[in-house]
Amino acid sequence: MPSRNHTDKRVASTCCYCGVGCGVLVNKEKNGSITVEGNKDYPVNKGMLCSKGLNLHYTVNDKSDRLLYPQMRYNKNTPMLRVSWDEALDRTAAVFRTFIDKYGPDSVAIYASGQCLTEEYYVMNKLIKGFIGSNNMDTNSRLCMSSAVVGYKMALGEDCVPVCYDDIELADVFYVTGANPAWCHPILWRRVETHKAANPDVKIIVVDPRVTDTCAIADLHLQLNPGTDVTLNHAIGRVLIENGDIDLDFVHNHAEGFEQYSTTVFKRTLAESAAICGLRESDIRLAAQYIGGAKGFITMWTMGLNQSVAGVNKNLSLINLNLVTGHIGKPGSGPFSLTGQPNAMGGREVGGLANLLPAHRDLSNPLHREEVQRFWGGTAINPKAGLTATEMFEALNDGRLKAIWIVCTNPLTSLPNVRLAEEALKKAKYVVVQDISNKPETLKYADVILPAAAWAEKEGTMTNSERRISYLNKIVDAPGEALPDAEIICRFAQKMGYKGFDYRDAAAIYGEHVKLTAKTNIDVSGLNYEILKEKGSVQWPYQKKRYIKDSRRLFTDKMFYTASKRAIIHAVPDEFNGEKPTEDFPLILTTGRIRDQWHTMSKTGKVNKLNQHFKQAFIEIHPLDAQDIGLVEGDIAVITSRRGEVQVKAKLSVEIKPGVVFLPMHWGKILGNDLNRANNVTNDAVDPVSKEPDFKYCAVRVTKFQKP
Ligand code: SF4
Repeated sequence: MPSRNHTDKRVASTCCYCGVGCGVLVNKEKNGSITVEGNKDYPVNKGMLCSKGLNLHYTVNDKSDRLLYPQMRYNKNTPMLRVSWDEALDRTAAVFRTFIDKYGPDSVAIYASGQCLTEEYYVMNKLIKGFIGSNNMDTNSRLCMSSAVVGYKMALGEDCVPVCYDDIELADVFYVTGANPAWCHPILWRRVETHKAANPDVKIIVVDPRVTDTCAIADLHLQLNPGTDVTLNHAIGRVLIENGDIDLDFVHNHAEGFEQYSTTVFKRTLAESAAICGLRESDIRLAAQYIGGAKGFITMWTMGLNQSVAGVNKNLSLINLNLVTGHIGKPGSGPFSLTGQPNAMGGREVGGLANLLPAHRDLSNPLHREEVQRFWGGTAINPKAGLTATEMFEALNDGRLKAIWIVCTNPLTSLPNVRLAEEALKKAKYVVVQDISNKPETLKYADVILPAAAWAEKEGTMTNSERRISYLNKIVDAPGEALPDAEIICRFAQKMGYKGFDYRDAAAIYGEHVKLTAKTNIDVSGLNYEILKEKGSVQWPYQKKRYIKDSRRLFTDKMFYTASKRAIIHAVPDEFNGEKPTEDFPLILTTGRIRDQWHTMSKTGKVNKLNQHFKQAFIEIHPLDAQDIGLVEGDIAVITSRRGEVQVKAKLSVEIKPGVVFLPMHWGKILGNDLNRANNVTNDAVDPVSKEPDFKYCAVRVTKFQKP
């Protein structure tokens, strides 16, 4: 599958870190290295880049940690040997065939990443669902976006972000909850900051148990108790109703469920809700007053809501605030889920989760299954939903799953209750690791290691948080024998004897994908690489015959994708079943990102400049809690939960709520020491519908480290 290097010296691409999706210009130097600058003509970032984007080139230029050739071992007790691509893939195909024949197709699985390109997702999904006959295809997007996906589907009838970035400059009230975009979506937040600076009347409400940098421009910070988001959103809904700030035309003509919602939000008095949330009644009233007076109202959220055992209900209670005020489908308004990863949305477009089919088709719908099977020409699509991220590792542990293929992700740092995941990989009969780096802990358990091409070394597409699809050029060659992920999967599929994987190039894969989207809600059947190269990027939908509709924002006609064409206001309960603190584990742990690192640091951890922000893992703890424990700044704190232990330096801060502690998510095993790893202690309980784990709430004990 040839993909030619771009020959120009300056080539446009898209940053491969967060879901903001900033445009970059990559300069090719004479010595073969590259430098990166912000693309001033790109509508997302207009030339700006954050610290991670500015240092993108280091990760490409530094090849010191790259996997260069396939490796394999014949059994668990023999060493890894360098082998050819044919040997590695022949052996893997033989092993997969044996398991599938003996234990059935559900004995194998692919676990991939929101950093994969759309074409890569497409062929992985086609391989396992269309030909192997299992739906065991999930990605680390399960860990960050799946609650928002379910929330959008239940409320709007489709997994779609209805707003665009240009709405930021048109809004006058922002409700930012469970997110720290100043650090995690910096360029998007820069646009909010600039807008606020030019329009001081713009109101920003931030909801977070911590005082983050996002609070720096907040008019109101609601420092709520962790886990109480639904109660707070309902309380605001109640005040909106009391104040007569409901859009009655919208709730009566374009939505359903308002009556039940109204009953639900009045079940608690405002005083009760305020006490549960740990907030002042007057602050809740003020938030409602800002929202009630908004001309343009945007809700923004991310992991603080999604990563919860009540993630879906938190999402629905938030989207309700847009619905009851009618702030959707018009400029400057809408519920805006901030995507964590660069192509989580693209992955869902091709159906890259265990319960999805291409173009957001529904696995449980027999017509959808038949339609996709006919298109692919493979085996009948299995109606049973596949294993989700955490379920895959449970199934390895109990032996239901025999083989797992891990692509571009590092589950031994990123999964909750990670020691169980480590046990699972020890027990797995066959582990394939396809990665760019020789650092992930997963390599230790691999039977086959497949070297992959990195960003700028392959071509393909990604979709950012505002449904903007961009084309990424291949700019430099991959080192050694590394291959693009899509090519690896296609070569394997051919080794398995499957037809339909002999693509000419990545454009041909994209061409197949867009055909499957025709006449769906996410129709991009009019799109191809040529259009993307010419326009730089476009937002979906992008239909074939005509492109007349302004696709920047959805639902301007108030016609939702539900059966009734109305948006649905869900009267969700405000119960929260997170792990309860006890005398033994009295504090609540929440985890999150820091400004200059990305996920498990396999790329950003290579850049000295980025390591200066925080040189090592730490725990953030309030001085009152630290005092009770006898902990002072810089002491080693031992954080213990029912699942494990972390030992990191204490960072005392009045910016975190007493009773709550924070660990950054990025650090894994370093030089054999895994005590920096936040996920030693996190909880693997999941939301019952979205199956997204709760990284934001578990009960822990913190003590001072005592020398033995
Ligand atoms: Fe890259 Fe996100 Fe930073 Fe933009 S905001 S430069 S996409 S990491």
